[in-house]
Amino acid sequence: MIEVRNLNKFFYVPHKLHALKNISCKVKQGEVVVIIGPSGSGKSTFLRCLNRLEFPESGEIIIDGKNVLQAKKEINQIRAEVGMVFQNFNLFPHMNVLENITMAQMVVRKRKRKEAEDKAFMLLKKVGLQDKARAFPSQLSGGQQQRVAIARSLAMDPKVMLFDEPTSALDPEMIGEVLDVMKSLAQEGMTMVVVTHEMGFAKEVADRVIFMDEGQIIEEGIPSELFLNPKEERTKLFLGQIL
Ligand code: ADP
Ligand code: MG
Repeated sequence: MIEVRNLNKFFYVPHKLHALKNISCKVKQGEVVVIIGPSGSGKSTFLRCLNRLEFPESGEIIIDGKNVLQAKKEINQIRAEVGMVFQNFNLFPHMNVLENITMAQMVVRKRKRKEAEDKAFMLLKKVGLQDKARAFPSQLSGGQQQRVAIARSLAMDPKVMLFDEPTSALDPEMIGEVLDVMKSLAQEGMTMVVVTHEMGFAKEVADRVIFMDEGQIIEEGIPSELFLNPKEERTKLFLGQIL
């Protein structure tokens, strides 16, 4: 479903930085891959390249057979197929929940309002928020906002879902409700790439864990292997700090 070859990304401001160093990886359809690594290791930059929020200097990204970096005019189409959920929810503050979930469906997917709203209600039910359709983001808890953000992404029928530390900004009591939604999505067969520090989630849900450091993939493996038996010193050091 995803194939990345020799991806390189630089930032030039405030100083030259090689943020992604020749990253290559594959994600199969229905696979759940968790990315871990220290702050600043390039995890977000990598996800952002996958849906072209960042444009890399070199390399290839193929998602569902489409060359993401060559497609010039279809950027909204690519973002529709590669859903992304951010740490800070990023809902439109001036729109209610229903409007948040229907707008891109109508603009990008060209759905009629009724069809978009039916889909929105179906997804709100799925994330347990059917009674919040008319609420504004500011009237919701962090966990509820994040579940709306997930529903909004799913409304586009993405082929892949990217999650960038989706629970990092949440109070502890709300982390579970968001992870539960992600877990059921994984069980339904969604292809997912998840940056998270929730090692319980990684152990339970991930098919594979990738450890990144300093813009490189240092090591990857099935969760039990990588967590219990890391090969690389840097992985051991990192796991020692967080586990
Ligand atoms: P992570 O998500 O693993 O914490 P990031 O991908 O956010 O790491 O960042 C990787 C490196 O790239 C960091 O050194 C960060 O400061 C730098 N970086 C990220 N975004 C930008 C940007 N827009 N401009 C300049 N440097 C950036
Ligand atoms: Mg990040």
